[in-house]
Amino acid sequence: MDYLEEFPVIVIDDELHSDTAEGRASREIVKELKEENFPVIEALTARDGVHAFLSHPHASCIVIDWELSPEAADGTLTAADLITLIRERNPKIPIFLNTEKLAISAIPLSVISRIDGYIWKLEDTPGFIAGHIKRAATNYLADVLPPFFRGLMDYVEEYRYSWHTPGHMGGVAFLKSAAGRIFYNFFGENALRADLSASVQELGSLLEHSGVVGEAERKAAEVFGADRTYFVTGGTSAANKIVWLSTVTAGDVVLVDRNCHASVMHAIVMTGAVPIYLIPARNEYGIIGPVRNSEFHPEVVAEKVRNCPLIDDPASRTVRMAAVTNSTYDGICYSAERIEENLRETVPYIHFDEAWSGYARFHPLYAGRFGMHETDAVGPTVFATQSTHKVLAAFSQGSMLHVRQGRGVVDHPRFNEAFMMLTSTSPQYTIIASLDVAARMMAGHSGRFLVEEAIEEAIVFRKKMVTVAEEIRAGSSPREDYWWFTVWQPDCIMDEKTERALPEADDALLRNHAGCWLLEPHDAWHGFPGLEEGYAMLDPIKVTILTPGIGPGGEMEERGIPAAVVTKYLRENGIVVEKTGYYSFLVLFTLGITKGKSGTLLAELFRFKALYDGNSPLEEVFPDLVRQHPARFSGRGLADLCREMHGYLRDESIAGTLRNVYATLPEPVMTPAEAYRRLVRGEVTPVPASDIEGKTVAVMVVPYPPGIPVIMPGERCGPATRAIVGYLVSSQEFDTLFPGFENEVHGVDVVAEDGQRVYYVYCVTE
Ligand SMILES: *Cc1c(COP(=O)(O)O)cnc(C)c1O
Repeated sequence: MDYLEEFPVIVIDDELHSDTAEGRASREIVKELKEENFPVIEALTARDGVHAFLSHPHASCIVIDWELSPEAADGTLTAADLITLIRERNPKIPIFLNTEKLAISAIPLSVISRIDGYIWKLEDTPGFIAGHIKRAATNYLADVLPPFFRGLMDYVEEYRYSWHTPGHMGGVAFLKSAAGRIFYNFFGENALRADLSASVQELGSLLEHSGVVGEAERKAAEVFGADRTYFVTGGTSAANKIVWLSTVTAGDVVLVDRNCHASVMHAIVMTGAVPIYLIPARNEYGIIGPVRNSEFHPEVVAEKVRNCPLIDDPASRTVRMAAVTNSTYDGICYSAERIEENLRETVPYIHFDEAWSGYARFHPLYAGRFGMHETDAVGPTVFATQSTHKVLAAFSQGSMLHVRQGRGVVDHPRFNEAFMMLTSTSPQYTIIASLDVAARMMAGHSGRFLVEEAIEEAIVFRKKMVTVAEEIRAGSSPREDYWWFTVWQPDCIMDEKTERALPEADDALLRNHAGCWLLEPHDAWHGFPGLEEGYAMLDPIKVTILTPGIGPGGEMEERGIPAAVVTKYLRENGIVVEKTGYYSFLVLFTLGITKGKSGTLLAELFRFKALYDGNSPLEEVFPDLVRQHPARFSGRGLADLCREMHGYLRDESIAGTLRNVYATLPEPVMTPAEAYRRLVRGEVTPVPASDIEGKTVAVMVVPYPPGIPVIMPGERCGPATRAIVGYLVSSQEFDTLFPGFENEVHGVDVVAEDGQRVYYVYCVTE
């Protein structure tokens, strides 16, 4: 198969270029390999070899000279060290030791047990040795393929004429038009030939979890530590609904993170459940924090059940399921163990929505902070749903649903009814193959190293942002006049009993010690009082950057640079951030990170600062914006725009408003399912946001920022929750004042009326 070409053999040998018998023999072997179409990477020193190995994770074989000279060993790095380092990262890649027969007796057992064979280059012919290497490399490459992907490739290789769907028949249909041909050329023949349908028996069935699909799911379960894993081709949006439809029925009481994804809300509508909510904390910067541990205590939950007007006979009601977003959108991960402990007697099922943290299991930093952690205790049954495509390597919509069996029964045939209900009968096979590969990538040691790389890069960036701030401060006069972006993170780290500023803290400690990142009750940096020790952790790979504007006490400062302006600038310069708040934005360091990528971000932040400090004309900074709204923006500078926008947000005291918006929940009047029933039947009226007080809202309203629902379907704003109405009205006003920076509000219909943007919200007709 030509897919197995271009996987280099790394030869680490200091004599490769020497005019000795050994040097000549080595060169002959390299020549033979190249003639066989195996690229060879030559390394003359041990350190070079390490670099070659690290920068070629797809290498197919490694040949190491056992007798590296002291110079080639760089003083300290011996061949044995090399083998240890390689084996730590890759237990399977074939390693051959190049040595003399006589030397074998001197090779320690610890080395012998970790290599795949020897090369005696003065005794065997180069052709024989190259053949040996090639065979090992090919076997290894064939073995790295996970089951479904391998099956898919084999099937496509065989190139059968198909009489089944998809109707494009391996792409051929596309060739019958010009647009189709361009489509075909763009995606390539294999992508189209691998787009198969469920009628291919050789590949098993996703709906029945049979054949190689089933095998792939079982392998993934092993890798992710689940009792059972399901591949979901409709994203975590579908996975969440599968969890709920399999477990919750109409009238069941459920405990739900108010900071839940829309798909969980949809599941509540679809099942007819009665939700009671877990309220996340919010800090002075408008960052959404964790749901406090106390929210999970049995008495607190019981109190909520008693107070919910939609539950009759609350005394006899139990809670069926609890759903928690872990990690949160702002990168806070909970101790899943602690949540389970607290909910042990309260619910038979817990659903962790881990859309953003599918990597947690693979690095010790996150120990106990994900649903599929190891445990001996029989607590609630745990579901974890993960958007593999968001943070690992899979095609969009590729998600996994993991189950850890506990007290709540999950009977596969019954569960599968829900799976089938939410799965197409023509699932996208390339998504399945990517999930299979994603699981394989994380298997064994490689998962840890992949995650570690992302953590490492994030830490470099975090440290750099602090030192840059110090340099700017030192260089500006007067000193108070400086500004730079702040990273929301601990400023000090306890390092073997001495406290050090973050940039001075040891990297290995920061990478491996969860204690560095915990939101501890005695720390001030995070701004969430009343958290329990060790309960919530900031995930270092999710970096929230604060822009100037809100002081440490939550008061709005004189100078402010709204984050929307910064992220618009970044976007127009090729950097798309994950999420934008009022004075904060979030960037992600995922497995796709490359060294130096954060350097680009840093450079753009510097450029932004220079443009801001020079009050550069908006014509230069945002030319499109000025072209679209000349009357509004021409003749102004970047600093003018920030001053104006900040002035508006300060007059609205946005930080305080947001606190009030989420301090009290609107009153539940009917279940979300009932509100939705009214919506479908047309028993609803669009009402301008300014007039919704006293009305029962039929939809979920989620403003971005901050991205938490302010109203759920079936809830009503009253006098106590007037802040919500005020907030929506002010967002609407902001949109009108700052075209090009409009808020995104899900659940409202935006109508332009006399040059104003007005939000209409569907409310239940009285
Ligand atoms: C993105 C997301 C989802 C939905 O996942 P998709 O894979 O995009 O369907 C669910 N929950 C949370 C918390 C998310 O962020």
